[in-house]
Amino acid sequence: MKIAMIGTGYVGLVSGVCFSDFGHEVVCVDKDPRKIEMLERGEVPIYEPGLDALMAKNVEAGRLSFTLDLEKAIDGAQAVFIAVGTPTRRGDGHADLTYVMAAAEEIAKTAKDYVVIVTKSTVPVGTNRQVKQVVAKANPALDFDVASNPEFLREGAAIEDFMKPDRVVVGVQNERASEVMADIYRPLYLRDFPIVTTDLESAEMIKYAANAFLAAKITFINEIAALCEKVGADVKQVSKGMGMDNRIGNKFLHAGPGYGGSCFPKDTKALARIGQEHAVPMQITETVIKVNEEIKRRMVDKLLDLCDGSFNGKTVAVLGVTFKPNTDDMRDAPALTIVPALVGGGAKVRTCDPQGQHEGEALLPGVNWVDDPYKAAHNADLVVLLTEWNEFRALDLKKLARKMTTPRMADLRNIYAIKDAKRAGFEAYTSIGRSGFG
Ligand code: NAD
Repeated sequence: MKIAMIGTGYVGLVSGVCFSDFGHEVVCVDKDPRKIEMLERGEVPIYEPGLDALMAKNVEAGRLSFTLDLEKAIDGAQAVFIAVGTPTRRGDGHADLTYVMAAAEEIAKTAKDYVVIVTKSTVPVGTNRQVKQVVAKANPALDFDVASNPEFLREGAAIEDFMKPDRVVVGVQNERASEVMADIYRPLYLRDFPIVTTDLESAEMIKYAANAFLAAKITFINEIAALCEKVGADVKQVSKGMGMDNRIGNKFLHAGPGYGGSCFPKDTKALARIGQEHAVPMQITETVIKVNEEIKRRMVDKLLDLCDGSFNGKTVAVLGVTFKPNTDDMRDAPALTIVPALVGGGAKVRTCDPQGQHEGEALLPGVNWVDDPYKAAHNADLVVLLTEWNEFRALDLKKLARKMTTPRMADLRNIYAIKDAKRAGFEAYTSIGRSGFG
């Protein structure tokens, strides 16, 4: 089967590479010539563990190619996937569908034979029907179906998630499209994974409901963490005790500096907006959005406390800027709230991140980038652990403390034990949902 993949971002590229690894012929298209040039040279424009090797293997096998030319990609394809961005629309929180609709129109004008147009991007309920209308209007003669196939992969573990999904959700309107989708995913059937086939609207809704639920779970434990600090409980013990209950589960119960990233912030806002438009306010999701903002601001207050009430003149080392480890993605990362607050308050900020510098340089003006956490801590007044990269999980705390002018640490991922920080010579240490010292 030949597949065309529109968009070579975090989702499109991973999906395209993995589909080619299933044995399909995949042509990935992007509008960005820089990305296509890199991909043609065998370079991966994003950081995603394992992606370079899998991409090289399938290019070598002749199943995977990249082009700027949509016509070439679509020619002979039975399915065209739309995997373009759906960022938050300025002003109203709605998902911006400009890229999706533009892609739909381009497909309509290019396709000649029967094709299934599959939306992989996260889109509000009703979008697939809209895609259908746009295509039918632009090319009334085209024989096509639409399908909704939301993606659930996590950046940093994207290949594993794509190859061994908890489930694949496919929304269709008829058997013909369902069969094409089944053919695409058939290689996964060997592993006996559950495929959920639904109507278009349910598939679209599953994605938003799942992301909003996960965002709510994280926010719940983050709020509990704030209370733990006041009452003397330890949120790590609390989440362990909660998570051992199978009805709750232990995932997404790690307290931290507030959720960020390319999906939760925009998808919660979009769901809230969909609710408002249908006069069914998503009150829980709306509260989650508000509380998450407060949590991020609470982090700044924590840092201020460790800096005796003022960042002015302080040297602060920030370890990790990406929204989570194993990605270079900075979209809506907590660092984008915290670092500007430090810089704006007059601190001299040194940042260190194994993959975040490239993206971070443009987004975090006024900071100095170093390639080593100990260099970052040199003569610093405060170390902030912001992303739990492996590189920061086993730091020599004694060495780190010795490098600093005033050894103080804000461990916003609860990586270290309080007693270890004390033993290493830190004079002050704060974390999330646990009592610190100093
Ligand atoms: P991205 O911004 O990384 O990539 C989008 C790509 O599409 C860009 O390279 C852009 O140049 C390209 N593009 C836009 N319009 C185009 C067109 N008309 N023709 C060709 N290329 C075009 O976005 P992403 O993170 O991959 O997300 C894509 C979608 O998947 C979003 O709706 C997102 O919500 C959803 N999603 C993302 C993740 C994630 O972890 N990033 C997970 C699940 C779902």
